[in-house]
Amino acid sequence: MRIVLLGAPGSGKGTQAQRLVERAGIPQISTGDLLRAAVARGSELGRQAREAMEGGRLVDDSLVLGMIRERLGEPDTRRGFILDGFPRNLAQAHALERLLEALQQPLDAVVQLEVDYRELVRRISGRRTCADCGRVFNMLTSPPAAGELCPKTAAPHRLTQRPDDNEATVTERLRVYDEKTRPLIDFYRARGLLRVIDAEGHVDEVTRRLARALGAPLRAPRRTRGAGTVKAAASKRASAGAARARSGRTARRKRPSLRSSRSKAAAKTARVARGKSRRPGSSGRGRLKGKRR
Ligand SMILES: [Zn+2]
Repeated sequence: MRIVLLGAPGSGKGTQAQRLVERAGIPQISTGDLLRAAVARGSELGRQAREAMEGGRLVDDSLVLGMIRERLGEPDTRRGFILDGFPRNLAQAHALERLLEALQQPLDAVVQLEVDYRELVRRISGRRTCADCGRVFNMLTSPPAAGELCPKTAAPHRLTQRPDDNEATVTERLRVYDEKTRPLIDFYRARGLLRVIDAEGHVDEVTRRLARALGAPLRAPRRTRGAGTVKAAASKRASAGAARARSGRTARRKRPSLRSSRSKAAAKTARVARGKSRRPGSSGRGRLKGKRR
């Protein structure tokens, strides 16, 4: 299963990528990590990258592609990979396509995590951090409890907003993201690779939609890591999805087969299931963790 995940800042892409890593057993290839690792190792590519970065220049696409090529030669990518942070524009998408063709490892799917931008702006601009204990709250989804005291000061938390979490900045960030990604989306749609999933609602539900879109059974682990409800109200009815999730739990220890990720099967299951259900008993607290961006 070779996939690219696309999602706006705040769409929960990082969380879902992490879940894919855990449940599908394929590595996440982050170009940022590759760059840092190459620089740290002092490889030839790393040396060139460091020169570019120290000179205040952007690291060349060909350099990044070289690192991806190197990384894809490692054995853990034999069953697939999740590409994160690349491609970011059309030129990179073309270059990646050529590289993966040459390596005979073409993409199986490109998944776009779709979220309502107004909702994202609302969510991000609701974020507050306690200046004393550092805890992250969201005034919309996880405000401090009534009368809650800061463990550091024994007074109420001193809530502050990060300067780039205000509405205007977030809106601009999303606008730029949209402008850059739109052509990518068209590019992959034209190749029949694009799967669009609704990324609103509980993280577990989004993971289920992702699994359906990929045509891969992703088992839910016992422990639910990360959380975040965009629209807790969007999932009131129990449905077939919930039943499927329940029956899936019995086999959760087994690694899912990746051979089932053919794009045709995936296409069939990629229908956007808007706000179908949340697994009964799963946490509906809707905490927005500080790490999610
Ligand atoms: Zn505090």
